Amino acid sequence: MEPSHENGHCDSCGRSNVVLYKLSLGHDFFDRPYDRLTSPGDLFPRWYCEECSREKDFQRDVRAIREEFVKLRCGQCSLLDSPSVFSRARQRIAEIDQSVKRGRGPHVILAPREVAHLLMELDSWAEEHDGGENGVKNETVGKG
Ligand SMILES: [Zn+2]
Repeated sequence: MEPSHENGHCDSCGRSNVVLYKLSLGHDFFDRPYDRLTSPGDLFPRWYCEECSREKDFQRDVRAIREEFVKLRCGQCSLLDSPSVFSRARQRIAEIDQSVKRGRGPHVILAPREVAHLLMELDSWAEEHDGGENGVKNETVGKG
């Protein structure tokens, strides 16, 4: 990503006088090429400030993981069928959760609530379908 577009504003939070990045989203969490042109929200080139571009990155992963999780729950073929992928995905969501919780003011792109909710769902799924072995399990410290 090359910083540029310096006199414009962030297409997400609207801030100006910041370095802006034209986002190229590359690959999603599952290493599939992310095709921004077929994604309805991403038809136009957009410019994001550093914080928003990071958030955008998170959003892409959250979306990809949630989609696969929905399939998993519906009993469809899902990339999360593999316990190791599931645990990696859960970890990624936990990471994003931490990061958005800690973050700055308004989250324009990704609602922390949304991430927390997905994390919760992943956790309870892991608990219900605990195949053992790979540490997906929650180290619960006594639920209040
Ligand atoms: Zn921004």
